[in-house]
Amino acid sequence: MAKPKADNRARFLQKFTMAGPNDCWLWTGKTINSGYGYFWVEGTKHMTAHRYAFLQAYGYLPTVVRHSCDVKLCVNPAHLLPGTSKDNSQDMASRHRMGGGNVKLTAAQVEEIRRRFVSGSHGRGGNRRQLALEFGVDSKHIWRIATGRAGDYRITDPKRGVA
Ligand SMILES: [Zn+2]
Repeated sequence: MAKPKADNRARFLQKFTMAGPNDCWLWTGKTINSGYGYFWVEGTKHMTAHRYAFLQAYGYLPTVVRHSCDVKLCVNPAHLLPGTSKDNSQDMASRHRMGGGNVKLTAAQVEEIRRRFVSGSHGRGGNRRQLALEFGVDSKHIWRIATGRAGDYRITDPKRGVA
């Protein structure tokens, strides 16, 4: 049975050590290979802990959530910054809708996935699962995106808070 989504916030609060407002609040829950915290959002999807922290604090998810403190496990919203696209107008131009599917990524996220994707062999190895965790999509979508078979996902506007 799925628990109410309201439980997510309470669960999240138990998984890090809150310190002073200017200190790093270190994630004590699960982590993923890239060194970021991992949080299962009940009824929705898994997210990296700092992205969830950003979403909770600011109410939307930017393409990239960066740490001003460079501490990957830090979930203090005061240390989290929205990443910006280098060329927003180009980003806008390349952002378009692809029919079907329900995976929502920005053009910048798609570019990042393609850049960072490491293929394994025979479905093993590589970083598909890691990227899937980070971007909150199924690993099959990571593969589709990385290999250019991405006819079934949609690119959305990050300002609408969809990620
Ligand atoms: Zn910090």
